[in-house]
Amino acid sequence: MAQKRKPGKKRPAAKRPQRKKTVKKKIQPVEEILFRVEGKMSTFGGPKDTGMSADEGLALFTSADVKNPKYSYLFLPAQPPGTTGLGRRLNPDKYYFACRWNYNDTPKEFLKRALARVENPSNGRAADARPVDWGPNISTGRVADLSPGLAAALGLQTDDVVRITISALRATLVKTAKRAKAVKQGVPVNRPASLGKPVIKQLIRSPNCSSRQVGTKIDKIVLHCTEGSLASTLAEFQRSDGRKVSAHYVIDRNGDIYQMVNDADCANHCRGANAASIGIEHVGSETDSLTAPQAAASAALIRWLLQEYQIPPTNIFGHNFTPGYNLPGGTSCPDKLFGPVHSQATIAAWVAANV
Ligand SMILES: [Zn+2]
Repeated sequence: MAQKRKPGKKRPAAKRPQRKKTVKKKIQPVEEILFRVEGKMSTFGGPKDTGMSADEGLALFTSADVKNPKYSYLFLPAQPPGTTGLGRRLNPDKYYFACRWNYNDTPKEFLKRALARVENPSNGRAADARPVDWGPNISTGRVADLSPGLAAALGLQTDDVVRITISALRATLVKTAKRAKAVKQGVPVNRPASLGKPVIKQLIRSPNCSSRQVGTKIDKIVLHCTEGSLASTLAEFQRSDGRKVSAHYVIDRNGDIYQMVNDADCANHCRGANAASIGIEHVGSETDSLTAPQAAASAALIRWLLQEYQIPPTNIFGHNFTPGYNLPGGTSCPDKLFGPVHSQATIAAWVAANV
């Protein structure tokens, strides 16, 4: 944010009554949560997991799936000596997990193509992972078993608390049209599954947006600091009688992501550079750094945007350093959120380390 205001200009003291908005027909679906669980975890799977018997299978996969390029990356190239079951053939470095599924709510075939968001609420780290099995037994008092690699990546140890979410959008993203096209064109597909869009806590529409010009390709991401609270930012972006500013996304200090403008539309966040950019606001003051959950959420969102719109990672800019940005006098945004120095080099270093 931080588009400079003219000195002396004051905000109206009271809110005007809300005007009736025209309902747009193009509606972006709000993330529908299909499965969510939070509680203690443990780890499972792989050649060294003697907690699994040598012939133990997996609830969601059969030996035929090992040859399927969509799933083969989850498994070791050969069955470990002395074992016959798929549980011990799992590659413990890959990101998979088990929960006690109710197959009426989340059928096996759905789970096989689902990507879940697995989070460590205590440090804000998160990763995408695939369901592979049913478990752990309820008597353990745990809600999930994770692959050793996933647990390590999130900084989780046995009996730490984990949060797992599967939402409708993320589940269907695993098999995207682009991917289907790649298969058709003979592009190898035994690469990691597509990233899912991070969970959007709430879609709160801003009126301060416009359609992108036909044929415009989204080619850059602009990072902002709100220099104000979440509530004041969401309120300002919903006003059509103020500075008429907005951003596509607002990320709170706790990592919650709010969407306010469809990616397909221009938001008013970076004058001179709105036409082909996506704007992400981060809640913070002029002296704040990103919190850990906020950084994790931002990195996950950026990763998804880069993939979704094929944006080069070098096209991620701090507001004041965005090519085309033309507000006279510039802006202090994004302040020191991404590092101690207000510079594009700081932004690039943060991107290299986190995205
Ligand atoms: Zn800004």
